[in-house]
Amino acid sequence: MTHTTTAFGAEYDTVVVGAGPAGVMAAMKAAARGTVLVLESSSMPRDKSCGGMLNEHAQEFIAGIAPIPRSMVRTPEHVNFRYVDWDRGIRKPTSLRFLNVDRRQFDDWLVSLLPGNVHVVSSSPVEGFTQDAGGVSVTVSVAGDDHTVRCNNLVGADGARSTVRRTLGEGSVSTYVTLQDFCKLEGELEPYFDCIYMRDIGDSYAYSYIVPKGEVALVGSVYYPKTRRPHEKQDQTMDILRATLPQLGEMVKREASVALHVRSAADVVAGRSHVLLAGEAGGFMSPTSGEGISYAMNSGAAAGMAIASSAPDDALAAYSRAVGHIGSNIRRKLRWLPFMESTWGKYLAGFVPTPIVSKMTEGL
Ligand SMILES: Cc1cc2nc3c(=O)[nH]c(=O)nc-3n(C[C@H](O)[C@H](O)[C@H](O)COP(=O)(O)OP(=O)(O)OC[C@H]3O[C@@H](n4cnc5c(N)ncnc54)[C@H](O)[C@@H]3O)c2cc1C
Repeated sequence: MTHTTTAFGAEYDTVVVGAGPAGVMAAMKAAARGTVLVLESSSMPRDKSCGGMLNEHAQEFIAGIAPIPRSMVRTPEHVNFRYVDWDRGIRKPTSLRFLNVDRRQFDDWLVSLLPGNVHVVSSSPVEGFTQDAGGVSVTVSVAGDDHTVRCNNLVGADGARSTVRRTLGEGSVSTYVTLQDFCKLEGELEPYFDCIYMRDIGDSYAYSYIVPKGEVALVGSVYYPKTRRPHEKQDQTMDILRATLPQLGEMVKREASVALHVRSAADVVAGRSHVLLAGEAGGFMSPTSGEGISYAMNSGAAAGMAIASSAPDDALAAYSRAVGHIGSNIRRKLRWLPFMESTWGKYLAGFVPTPIVSKMTEGL
């Protein structure tokens, strides 16, 4: 892998847009067919707002590539998911277990695993592309100047607000608004990944989560699309949580971001012609738990393998076949949404026996 901020060639076998887990996996696998250029709009190492919770599927996937470096694992090393009805003081621990990592270091490590014929260019947003019978011409902006790169296949792995998906003319998926606070820890928190429902924040509030991570606690909240004044709502949420959790000390950082709000099977799109969509760009994410890293790595790897094993004209068909089971998995999860998002569903979950909550969350 070579990494630069400016120089790159005019032709590659594959161009990948986005250096997240979907893009890196696509690049790693597509490199078996020829040269790959990864174009990333952010500077690197990039900062992706995230809980850094690797579920068992993500851990299994990574185990097939390389051992996870200990240096990026935070304390407590493992946390179990716990359902919390804040207003009624109900806590239901589950057997769902996550590895607790620093997301920035994790992403940077994934990039470091790329082979020598992958060229990564940061601070270079892709603005659009055109397709013709022979391939794809990609327009990328570098230090304010537009450049064109030619390729046989393009992979859009550019996240929830994908430019590649929009340019293809596929409808974009609406997005949750997320805010994540980093609070200094002033005492120990129980070693759980708490998913919290509370009623005082109003209808635009979906849920919050708290996870201890080394010297800080991450306190994130997820608000439904088009939520107004989310920062005020997050301040209100923090006041409520702090009243019971004095361990949540000074807030040292707040991140605002978005996450896919997948609502229908039609939100999942594999691509068109010579262009493949992977990770959140293709709608690959759990609609029920918000888990996205395993979906991104699996769909990205499938895109790269389809490219590596097919002629450019046939890569999309191979990819569509390979991700068929991920689409079915998302459709299955979508059936739970009306229950999970309704006030009565959130309320009733408090009455469900803990072992059943634990079993149910395994399928989310
Ligand atoms: C607050 C929050 C917490 C989360 N917590 C977890 C968690 O604990 N565990 C979990 O599994 N998932 C979590 N997720 C979801 C997970 O982070 C994502 O699903 C996952 O990162 C998706 O990977 P991706 O490669 O598809 O996209 P991304 O990781 O979003 O990467 C896309 C990349 O494309 C780049 N890009 C965008 N546009 C362009 C362009 N035009 N040109 C070039 N580059 C471009 C972006 O800069 C970005 O680096 C969380 C999400 C949020 C918002």
